Amino acid sequence: MANSMTDRYLENNRHYASGEAMHKPLYPGKQAIQPSKRVAVLACMDARLDVEDLLGLQTGDAHIIRNAGGVVNDDAMRSLIISHHLLNTDEIILIHHTRCGMLAFTDDLLKAGLEGDPAAEKLLGQATRRAFTSCKKSSATPSAFHAFRGQIEPLDAPRNEKSMERLAWDVRRGMSSILSHPWIPTSGSDAVTVRGFIYDVDTGKLEEVSYPGPMGSIG
Ligand SMILES: [Zn+2]
Repeated sequence: MANSMTDRYLENNRHYASGEAMHKPLYPGKQAIQPSKRVAVLACMDARLDVEDLLGLQTGDAHIIRNAGGVVNDDAMRSLIISHHLLNTDEIILIHHTRCGMLAFTDDLLKAGLEGDPAAEKLLGQATRRAFTSCKKSSATPSAFHAFRGQIEPLDAPRNEKSMERLAWDVRRGMSSILSHPWIPTSGSDAVTVRGFIYDVDTGKLEEVSYPGPMGSIG
């Protein structure tokens, strides 16, 4: 799409990465409930991502949905479906980022640690540099933590080829989940577009993930 809002936000991101403040906070006047730029962003909850700033979003422009990893789980899908069908958004922007905590554990490891496995407890304590304290109870929920697939690395490790591949893999998986969902139209007059990015927390720059792309080498 030539003149998409996503392209405009990518241009904003180039300004942001060079130190220019793009988000201008305002006390809103009367605004429509529908996001004025018809955009929905799904991003990781990481404390270093200021989504409004890094995209140059203004108040009222977009929905911002955040969770650990920026993963497309059931709850994110719920929000995206409501965002499109009830609130008229038609561009989805997925944002993962370098140094993500979701690269540093596995679902099995965290679950074992929470349930009381001493080895898992110790490993998680070392990885996070805090005293990981097991709850010594099991739970049916959450059914998954959606840690990224592939070989785990130390928490907050600098970007490297392998971690970029793992991040890109998960962005593509998320795009695929959205695009294949029966309640997300991808053709016709009501079509939604989806683009995925990795944000570099060291440079402030967004890098687009090609889609479709390689999916086969992880996990
Ligand atoms: Zn993250």
